[in-house]
Amino acid sequence: MADYDLIIIGSGPAGMTAAIYGARANLSVLLLDRLAPGGKVINTSEIQNYTGMGTVEGADLAIRMFQHTQELNAEFDYRTVLKVLDDGTEKTVVCEEENRTYTANTVILCTGTVPRLLGAAKEEHFSGNGISWCAVCDGAGCRDKDVVVIGGGNSAVEEAIYLAGFAKSVTVVVRSELSADPMACDKLLGRKNVRLFAGHDVLEFCGEERLEGVRLKSKDTGEEIFVSCGQVFEYIGQIPATGCFAELGVLNERGYVKVNEQMETAVPGVFGAGDCVTKNLRQVITACSDGAIAAQSAAKYMRKMGLL
Ligand SMILES: Cc1cc2nc3c(=O)[nH]c(=O)nc-3n(C[C@H](O)[C@H](O)[C@H](O)COP(=O)(O)OP(=O)(O)OC[C@H]3O[C@@H](n4cnc5c(N)ncnc54)[C@H](O)[C@@H]3O)c2cc1C
Repeated sequence: MADYDLIIIGSGPAGMTAAIYGARANLSVLLLDRLAPGGKVINTSEIQNYTGMGTVEGADLAIRMFQHTQELNAEFDYRTVLKVLDDGTEKTVVCEEENRTYTANTVILCTGTVPRLLGAAKEEHFSGNGISWCAVCDGAGCRDKDVVVIGGGNSAVEEAIYLAGFAKSVTVVVRSELSADPMACDKLLGRKNVRLFAGHDVLEFCGEERLEGVRLKSKDTGEEIFVSCGQVFEYIGQIPATGCFAELGVLNERGYVKVNEQMETAVPGVFGAGDCVTKNLRQVITACSDGAIAAQSAAKYMRKMGLL
């Protein structure tokens, strides 16, 4: 007999919603995450587009979601999942810590995404020491500093607005044009301490021990510019965190988990949800929707297989 009816890998909005729906469908649920529950939401300054919440701090929303899973007695454990083995009706989840394994009849893959790197010179050198991917974590150290934000999508613009609230200046660098929601772009460009370099590539992060600035190149004129700054935040997109599922045969050529509308993968009993699956809109609300559907599908699978 398997240890659990359902194991959920990743406790971001997708995983936590799957846990709520799984527990309410009377499944025994184990939620695993290598970090604190909440996923990317924990490190998001404000969420302004989750229905009914108005403006809410990311960390607050994450805590409320986790409390909801705990009210329903979903188990949580800190584990880094290394792989999932398909043994037919039982799936084995192999974790890094002491090679711990858990078995379940159904598994939902909700590992989300991790930031894409720019690949510019000295990026690795200043990683975590001048270059950050989290304004909430590292923004507090930027009070009265000149800051550069790289990227022009919703994440970049929202976080640049947040940083502009206390940094001395925020320079936004984007390869082409801002592509975030027009309302957010207007808010950003309305700030007095914000300037935009559109149509610029980042060539190099400059400095020796300490980051001193970034060297940019105009795509139109080829002119090179040095922008002095003490901290850079990169928001140039995400890549799926799905390496641990490579052997399962559920990934597409870009590493996303291939699912149908029921969030079923090609492996019976294995489902996917949230940012790590093939989809068009990667947001908190769509991750939650996927998680709900995936858990319902897992319960349906259990009933069909006579396991419930
Ligand atoms: C800067 C930024 C701002 C954003 N702002 C907004 C916003 O305002 N509104 C909005 O709707 N969306 C926003 N988003 C998008 C939103 O955060 C995501 O769509 C949402 O978090 C996806 O949820 P998820 O559960 O699929 O994945 P994630 O939130 O990525 O969670 C995945 C979880 O899986 C865990 N995990 C990964 N690999 C493993 C492993 N091998 N073993 C165990 N655990 C693992 C991770 O630790 C993580 O906790 C923003 C994103 C970013 C980056």
